[in-house]
Amino acid sequence: MFSKIAHLGIAVKDLDAAVRLWRDTLGFTLGGFDEVPEQKVKVAMFPVGESRIELLGATSPDSPIAKHLEKKGEGIQHVAFAVPDLEAALAELKARGVALIDEKPRIGAGGHKIAFLHPKSTGGILVELTQL
Ligand code: ZN
Repeated sequence: MFSKIAHLGIAVKDLDAAVRLWRDTLGFTLGGFDEVPEQKVKVAMFPVGESRIELLGATSPDSPIAKHLEKKGEGIQHVAFAVPDLEAALAELKARGVALIDEKPRIGAGGHKIAFLHPKSTGGILVELTQL
C-alpha cells in the first residue's frame, strides 16, 4: 500500500531563515514554494532523491503549524507516505480501525490529493498519505 516516503513536513517559525539554513548552510537545493490557504501554510520544498523535505511556515496564528510550534516547537511535524490509490488506502485503514482526520482526500501542496491519519492511531505521529 505504501510506495515511499513522499516527504517530511518540518514546522519552522521563520520560513525565510529556515530556507537560508537548508539551502545556504546545509546545501540542499530549493525546488520551489507553494501555499495552501486552506491549511494556512506556506511551504518550501527541497527534493531529496525520490522524497523531499517540506519546510512549513504558518501564514496565520490559527494555522495548524502555529499550533504545532506552540505545543512542540520547531521540528518534524508530519511524515507523508505515497500510496497509489488514496481512496482505497483510506478505506483499508479505516476497516483496520485506524482513525482518520480526513475521511475524504483533499488537495495539498503541489496540487496532490492528500489525507491525514489521526496520531492517536499511529503512535503519536501525524501521518499524511499522498497520491502522487
Ligand atoms: Zn505534507
